[in-house]
Amino acid sequence: MKPRTQRAANPAGGGAQSVADVPSAAAEEPPSSALLDLAIPPALKPAVAVADLGHRDFPEDPFWQRIPRFASIDLDTFLDPAFQNRHTVTSAAGLREAVGSLVAEAFLDDVEAGLREAPMNMRLSPYVLSRIDWREPYGDPVRRQFLPTASTRVPDHPRLAFDSLHEQADSPTPGLVHRYPDKALFLALDVCPVYCRFCTRSYAIGGSTSTVRKQGFKPQPSRWQAGLAYVASRPEIEDVVLSGGDAFMLPARMLSELLMALLAIPHVRRVRVASKGPAVMPMKILRDRAWTDALCDAVDHGRAHGQEVCLHTHVNSPEEMTFITRQAMNLLFSRGVKVRNQTVLIRGVNDDARRMIHLVRRLSAINVQPYYVYQHDMVKGVEELRTSLAESIELERWVRGATAGFNTPTFVMDAPGGGGKRDLHSYERYDETTGISVYRSPSVDPGRYYVYFDPLDRLPAEGRRRWADPAEHARMIKEVVLAAGLAALEPAIPV
Ligand SMILES: *Cc1c(COP(=O)(O)O)cnc(C)c1O
Ligand code: SF4
Repeated sequence: MKPRTQRAANPAGGGAQSVADVPSAAAEEPPSSALLDLAIPPALKPAVAVADLGHRDFPEDPFWQRIPRFASIDLDTFLDPAFQNRHTVTSAAGLREAVGSLVAEAFLDDVEAGLREAPMNMRLSPYVLSRIDWREPYGDPVRRQFLPTASTRVPDHPRLAFDSLHEQADSPTPGLVHRYPDKALFLALDVCPVYCRFCTRSYAIGGSTSTVRKQGFKPQPSRWQAGLAYVASRPEIEDVVLSGGDAFMLPARMLSELLMALLAIPHVRRVRVASKGPAVMPMKILRDRAWTDALCDAVDHGRAHGQEVCLHTHVNSPEEMTFITRQAMNLLFSRGVKVRNQTVLIRGVNDDARRMIHLVRRLSAINVQPYYVYQHDMVKGVEELRTSLAESIELERWVRGATAGFNTPTFVMDAPGGGGKRDLHSYERYDETTGISVYRSPSVDPGRYYVYFDPLDRLPAEGRRRWADPAEHARMIKEVVLAAGLAALEPAIPV
């Protein structure tokens, strides 16, 4: 094979940075002519249609110009994070102004009504606005994640609890969740570059809405100090997840200080920075040099001390990745930053085998390792977005085997009641009629069992009939627990 040509070693260092400074992907290089001259051995498999290789396509068209408001915006301006922030839409009125000419009035009314009942605020960057196909807003996978519509709402599951993951109960100090023996979740702040309708932490993230008063986590030095002191006092904690909220929103100096403070604790061996940023404002990685340097310098500092610092992104649909995302990921790849992705499995977004395989391959194509696919948590007000466990397991069957094993995400569920992540397939018992599944999590608590509930509208008629009668609820759960042989354990959430 022809050796890769040497390119700028440190694209973010020195000189004005532009997209052109970032190394381009190897896939763009033509095969060497020596290979083309060789005889081709007979094929054992039918040729793959070029259309099925679309995960590698990142066309460089100015897609944002389809939005009239951005029609005259050139690439350079669009890549400016200040432009993205200045034109971010945070209200129904702002949305009307931005896309009112593209979409039916009735749809915008529907969104406005949806927002009145929603647990999360709205925050849409120009990048996100231009990834939505406004001709088909109801079916659009990006719209579905960030904009509620009242007309599609279905009632919450009767067993849905606020903060279903019991994070607050596992927090020794506000914003520090210590559930697993050797890892901790550090919630550095309570704002994000976008607000996801399905956020598990709707109890804390973003401003209060008309339905939820938030217990926020401000990026305060005193709160951070308490979290750091706790981590330092527990030698078993090797792994810290920096989340929130979203580190994308931290000023570079604060990100740097926090990462360096964590790395200064000798027993902390791995730090992950979790961010939705690359999915909704990838240009910041290219253009906010101070922020990207803060991350990359921490990665380098960690590497020099045998500690891993990496980035965990949150991409849910192939539509979120563009040539800008690829340039951003190429930049991080060239600077030696490991990037992994966590996807939430969402109905109408990625619950179709073709799309999920496409998503996994597209992430892999830009050197982002698909790490987890999460069963949708039981969250208030977004029941229409959940899938049943049976549907999720069927999806996993398709994905596993479609690509490299190390790029094959593990399908997990965060067990309601604080059980932590469980392999979807590891249930003790699953009743597809009532949609009740039971898990154990012995490393977290050997004395408890954890129950997950499929969305009622996905159940067979018999299951829906039983849930319609409140007197049946506890009985149905007890049946499954008994069949699983777990009657001697305690329920994590009272039955
Ligand atoms: C998800 C999570 C972690 C990290 O878990 P991994 O399986 O290692 O990705 C740590 N703490 C809490 C509370 C979590 O929810
Ligand atoms: S980016 Fe993460 S923390 Fe922020 S709203 Fe979305 S799911 Fe919640």
